[in-house]
Amino acid sequence: MANKPTYEELEQKIKVLEQEALERKKAEAALRELQRYTRGLVEASPDSLVTISSEGKITDVNRATELITGYPGDKLIGTDFSDYFTDPQKARPGYLKVFSEDHVRDYPLEIRHRNGKVTSVLYNASVYHDLKGDVAGVFAAARDITDLKKIEDALRENENRLEELLAEIAAKNAELESFVYSVSHDLKAPIVTIDGFIGALEEDFGDILSEEGKKHIMYISNAAQKMELLINDLIELSRIGRLTEIKREFPFARLVQDALKALQPQAGARGIAVNVQDNLPIVYGRRKRLGQAVDNLLANAVKYIGKDNPNPRIDIGVQEHNGQKAFFVHDNGIGIPEKYFDRIFQTFERLPSAKQLAEGTGIGLRIVKQIIENHGGKIWLTSEPGKGSTFYFTLKDKED
Ligand code: ADP
Repeated sequence: MANKPTYEELEQKIKVLEQEALERKKAEAALRELQRYTRGLVEASPDSLVTISSEGKITDVNRATELITGYPGDKLIGTDFSDYFTDPQKARPGYLKVFSEDHVRDYPLEIRHRNGKVTSVLYNASVYHDLKGDVAGVFAAARDITDLKKIEDALRENENRLEELLAEIAAKNAELESFVYSVSHDLKAPIVTIDGFIGALEEDFGDILSEEGKKHIMYISNAAQKMELLINDLIELSRIGRLTEIKREFPFARLVQDALKALQPQAGARGIAVNVQDNLPIVYGRRKRLGQAVDNLLANAVKYIGKDNPNPRIDIGVQEHNGQKAFFVHDNGIGIPEKYFDRIFQTFERLPSAKQLAEGTGIGLRIVKQIIENHGGKIWLTSEPGKGSTFYFTLKDKED
């Protein structure tokens, strides 16, 4: 038979029990505090938060869910989760996917408010487990993306408008180019007539014309020739966008060789030293057009090398620029003041220093710029008056 506990022993036991009860109370208070805290967080979320049982029934919601659906929490709990979407057939596989994959990310759905208002949302959900570690349900959060959608729609509209505008500009450009082309052609006919009659005048009346008269005829003849050059350049300019030459790969060095061959008489007569870098790369583009660009740049280098240049020199090569190949044509000629760097690429722009030195129409660089930009490249220059100029340009690599 067990001994009766002594009074002290009983007192001791009671103390232990009292201590245990106190600790349980403390733990319960801490748990209640934690629950209040978590609930506070859940309710503070502007996203709709829902827990769903494995049968697809709503087991808990926050205030944001009540607002987005228009139903109070107690009406939502116990109902089918997929009933609150415009497309329940799409919502169901959405939460089933969570069970098979543990989570879903940014699943697009539309929630219908009881008053009919539809809100676009992105769902993010993951499964949650009970104490035993079994899947107890799904925790789902829906983010309202109405504003995002509005921005997207506005962006799309802007993009469409931009495309329309670009198409309009392209059509206007094509119209303008063909206008310039036909006007230039029409202008050529009277110039040919003027040229012809000047020749006839000289032939038939050369003997009886005074020196002053002959001078006048020479001025008319020079002006007619200049006009012809201008018209030819304008025709060239208007053709750039319309040529349908196919792009292909070819050695850049060939363009340089061809251009130098054509310029040899002028360059030789001035004693210009031409230095072409070895191993120029293969480029991709329209060979004739790019050839014309190189021709114009080299012709300018020769033209503007300067009359009294003791060591005239031209360098042609390629160098790295911002991770791209930049081709360059350098001369140690008369140079260009920085304030004209943009203007020289415009049609008919010629600098006073150039006019004294050589004939020109002021269209050559405009043609070069257009060709390079049509090839997706950029053109720019560095220059210092009296020291020389370097024209650089890039080309787009072959698209795969
Ligand atoms: P053009 O040579 O027929 O005048 P461009 O359009 O080729 O026309 O050139 C425009 C102007 O830019 C030239 O008139 C000249 O003033 C200047 N220019 C072009 N290339 C050079 C160069 N290499 N050195 C100095 N000036 C140049």
